[in-house]
Amino acid sequence: MNYIDLHCDALTKREGVFHVTRKKLEAGGCLLQCFAAFIDPRKGEGFARAMALADHFDAMCAREGYAPVRAARDIGEGKIHAMLTVEGGGALEGSLEKLEALYRRGVRMLTLTWNLPNELGFPNSSRLPPLGELAPAERATEGVPFSGELSPEAAFPSRRPLEGELSTAAAFPPWRPLEGELAPAKRATEGVSLRHGTLQSRQRRFGLTSFGRAAVERMAELGMLVDVSHGSDDLLFDVAAALKRTHTPFVASHSGARAVFPHPRNLSDEGIRAVAESGGAIGLCFVPAFLTDDGTAERNREAILAHARHIVRVGGEDALALGSDFDGAPENPYLPDAAAMPRLYDDLCSIFPSHVAQKVVSGNALRVFQAIR
Ligand SMILES: [Zn+2]
Repeated sequence: MNYIDLHCDALTKREGVFHVTRKKLEAGGCLLQCFAAFIDPRKGEGFARAMALADHFDAMCAREGYAPVRAARDIGEGKIHAMLTVEGGGALEGSLEKLEALYRRGVRMLTLTWNLPNELGFPNSSRLPPLGELAPAERATEGVPFSGELSPEAAFPSRRPLEGELSTAAAFPPWRPLEGELAPAKRATEGVSLRHGTLQSRQRRFGLTSFGRAAVERMAELGMLVDVSHGSDDLLFDVAAALKRTHTPFVASHSGARAVFPHPRNLSDEGIRAVAESGGAIGLCFVPAFLTDDGTAERNREAILAHARHIVRVGGEDALALGSDFDGAPENPYLPDAAAMPRLYDDLCSIFPSHVAQKVVSGNALRVFQAIR
């Protein structure tokens, strides 16, 4: 089948049953697996952690026999390839020199934010009110810039002062459970708010910071793929604007379609179109909480195909790729691990012509990697 998966968290998973192993990648027919070095902002992780995980990545490739990929031309036949990516712009610590060092170390994709704001910009969760329902005024007094009056730069001048004055946790209290932990009812409520745009107008400025823009432009020059998954809608559109001049594609490595299921980690139709117009792709994520509020395998299968169909309908057949998020979230009963991927290919062939299914499982991702370098 020769599929390409734009995102998994096997590199930082410490225990439990792994969705991604050499054996499972072989059984699934994997051509290229991206391995994310997840930089946890809750632990204040940064550049040093990313460099340490790059060492882990090299050791894993040597141990498992993965062929490391730093450019599309490194992808050959008959091998399982691995690409090092970083999830969390905190790895840059606000420094373009560190961005360049990560590139030299082999990082070829950067997910700009995770679930908390950082020096580069704002996550999708920044757009939502806390589930605890604090009024905007109350939040403002806690230092959370929800009034829309603080620019991102003012709110987050750099990593250091933020940590000194107010921990990230204090600035952003636990009003957003992490991936996969939202109750369906709460998700539905949020989705309605998003669809009606009531929150959008209040938080229009929470996209890329000026440093984020500079980093994105430097990434385009270097040939490091920009990933907007976890990013706010404004961040996605800011990235699209920043990369337009150089016709550089960008991706959402692990997201779905918000029109199909209203989870904030999914992309709006405008977002899907912006990724597609850049020549980039959306890696369809298998995290059940993003796909549907019904946990059965059959419903997850239907939901994945519905997200796939919608992304292709809105963004075109060149816009859809795969981004499992294996080992980063509770498993999907329909696609529990990498060995199950042929099942997905067969089902994609049932809703798309086979040349489109081929683009989805590998062609589109390959095209994006070729375009950035
Ligand atoms: Zn993620």
